[in-house]
Amino acid sequence: MTVDLASRIGRVRTAMETAGLDALIVTPSADLRYLTGYDAPALERLTALVLPAGDDPVLVVPELERAEAERSPAALAGMQIVSHAETDDAHMATAASIQGSHRIAVNDWMPARQLFGFQRVLPSATFLPAGALLSSLRMRKGPDEVAALRHAAAAIDKVHARMGELLKVGRSERATAAAIGEAILDEGHARVDFVIVGSGPHSASPHHSVSDRVVQSGDCVVVDIGGTTAAGYCSDSTRTYAVGDDPPQEFLEFYEVLLQAQRAQCDFAGGGVTAETVDRVGRRIIAEEGYGEYFIHRTGHGIGLETHEEPYIVEGNAQTLELGMAFSIEPGIYVPGRHGARIEDIVVVTAEGVERLNTTSRELSVMEG
Ligand code: ZN
Ligand code: ZN
Ligand code: ZN
Repeated sequence: MTVDLASRIGRVRTAMETAGLDALIVTPSADLRYLTGYDAPALERLTALVLPAGDDPVLVVPELERAEAERSPAALAGMQIVSHAETDDAHMATAASIQGSHRIAVNDWMPARQLFGFQRVLPSATFLPAGALLSSLRMRKGPDEVAALRHAAAAIDKVHARMGELLKVGRSERATAAAIGEAILDEGHARVDFVIVGSGPHSASPHHSVSDRVVQSGDCVVVDIGGTTAAGYCSDSTRTYAVGDDPPQEFLEFYEVLLQAQRAQCDFAGGGVTAETVDRVGRRIIAEEGYGEYFIHRTGHGIGLETHEEPYIVEGNAQTLELGMAFSIEPGIYVPGRHGARIEDIVVVTAEGVERLNTTSRELSVMEG
């Protein structure tokens, strides 16, 4: 993937100017990868991108990681790399180019030990969170990022397409998840991020991961899976399966309601509507059918270099959706102690509405025992 890092840095600069910032410091995180292409390890030694308002950015790295940093897209595009030796004061070395700055923003996931280190060497500066500034850039995906998300979605779709061989009566959730994990890697991811296999009563717990429960005939099974591709972009898709004979009648009934709600939300979502109204559209349908109290989480979350990022599709988020924003639409119905279902697709805002990046069938698929 070719990434135009210069234009990203340019947009950060504009946002910094608007926010009246003198400098930005970003430690290893999705934010750093977004701005430099460098997938730096988050270790105790300090790595940081320093961007002074009026000067060129510098990527500061431990000496022993210099070679790795020099192979990063940012370095290849000409960004200056400065390294600090094992016995240097790493924070002092990093702050050299921004001494005298008053307002310094730092990324949200900067470890406290690094922030305290910067406060020590820049005692007269005010430190501010850069989260909103960076996510406002990251949530508007460029065509290269949409292509990367489409690639990730296709990879996870291939895993769902193999569920007939992976999900079987008599196999434990844990063994099923292990097989799914291998499939996630086989089908084009560099890393497995999570595997949820919630069978029978466990399907009623949205963030159940796995257990030793053995899948039985008549179970409904929520399978929510995701990974990260080599390009750094995440996949996340949920399908709910019925396994074996005679799925419960109650389940079949609310599955139809859920399917209708998820479809309505995908039809409704698009540029110019707010995140919270997408949530409302699905919640209203589910409530009207009498399952309102069983839809206990938000509709979705943005996705990109992180599985969960802005924009969150939730009541209270008045963010207007725009071209290039990518997020999940994943309503669920969970009847406590009995069974539940969730249907999740990643969508991206287009000129016409949204494109669903996940394309496997959302109709209930019944796996043979
Ligand atoms: Zn989740
Ligand atoms: Zn998911
Ligand atoms: Zn999700």
